[in-house]
Amino acid sequence: MAELKQSRPKGTQDFVPPDSERMRQVEETFRNLAECYGYREIVTPTFEHAAVFVKSSGETSDIVTKEMYSFKDRADRDLALRAEGTPCVVRAVVENRLRMPCRLYYVGPFFRYARPQKGRFREFNQVGVEALGEASPLTDAEVISFGNAFFESLGIRDCTTQVNSIGCRECRPAHRAELRKFLLERKEQLCEDCKLRIDRNPLRVFDCKVELCRQAVKDAPTPRQYLCSACKSHLEEVLAGLDRRGLRYEVNDRLVRGLDYYNRTTFEYISASLGAQDSLGGGGRYDYLIEEFGGPDTPGVGLAIGLERTILAAPVTPATARRHLAFVVWLTEAELGAAQDLGERLRADGIAAQVDYDARKVKGQFKSADAAQACCCVIIGPDELAKGVYSLKDLATGEQREVPSSAISAEVRTLFRE
Ligand code: AMP
Repeated sequence: MAELKQSRPKGTQDFVPPDSERMRQVEETFRNLAECYGYREIVTPTFEHAAVFVKSSGETSDIVTKEMYSFKDRADRDLALRAEGTPCVVRAVVENRLRMPCRLYYVGPFFRYARPQKGRFREFNQVGVEALGEASPLTDAEVISFGNAFFESLGIRDCTTQVNSIGCRECRPAHRAELRKFLLERKEQLCEDCKLRIDRNPLRVFDCKVELCRQAVKDAPTPRQYLCSACKSHLEEVLAGLDRRGLRYEVNDRLVRGLDYYNRTTFEYISASLGAQDSLGGGGRYDYLIEEFGGPDTPGVGLAIGLERTILAAPVTPATARRHLAFVVWLTEAELGAAQDLGERLRADGIAAQVDYDARKVKGQFKSADAAQACCCVIIGPDELAKGVYSLKDLATGEQREVPSSAISAEVRTLFRE
């Protein structure tokens, strides 16, 4: 047979147990919390027309220029693996003419061609919420605190919430002009990317990680200095909403986020335990995006959180060594039928049960139970069959006792509780 040995592509991951289970747990926590705030799930395709991202995130954004997995299909269509959630959700909301206001959440894989490192992958999982048709700054505050509630429920404590406002169509042009002037005077100190940003999108210079650029923009005019009165009071009300909840945050004038579609509120959650890729998630308001996708003039605000980084930042809960799984062990071929029946009966009672049909010897079956990390074995031999009992062995303590066959499900459950 031809050699098929392959490794996974760079920047991707396998989630094997128990990591796959941890991932599911975190996802479940998110789903429950999102539903608790009135969000309902939306599922969109994992690839879209490339224009969905190019038009919304901006032609000059890092995501579009450097990170998008774009390709042509066999009919020469320009497609892209989805690089972020908001544009897909907005595209779907407009296409399906959903009634406003409308709260949606999503969970799923995203793809970006970035240099892999700790906390940065080429395929990663994001969860997010989008509150569409809600203009109030109180929604911004609620969305921000939703993210905090999510991290808190996972025991993440070293997370700082940063908030900013980048203004609106009214006040942005004046800031942009001033910033452009400021950057032109310091052009020689900027990296090649930032030199191009001066004319294309000067705000993005705030996002640059190059130290010289950071130094250069230290005293640059900030969006907050140029907010119109409506944007100013919007920001004040967002912050008041956070204060009301007793939520700690920092206002970060440099927090602009690298996407074109945001206006007013932007925010990000930073973890001290992650190293260079320290952003757990973030989001903002996007009051123009729905209209740009051909929908009615509708405001929106949302957030996206990366699951891999969330799991990295969450305290490691000691893996429960044993699973809530009962392993049925049969002694001789004569009990094989009874073992199958017992497996089905336990499952019908809502108990996860497994039988090793291959190992002819008891020792082999116990080894399988151990490999499966079952918490107990239910043993059926000729004696047990004759007496109408099972022997129940607690694999954590090694204790074994006889249990009347009618009581087996209840007795197994008592072990699950320990
Ligand atoms: P963004 O859409 O860039 O604001 O990303 C939102 C969150 O998704 C980030 O804060 C990360 O937690 C996560 N994320 C973004 N890009 C990656 C990546 N390449 N690998 C892993 N997680 C990522």
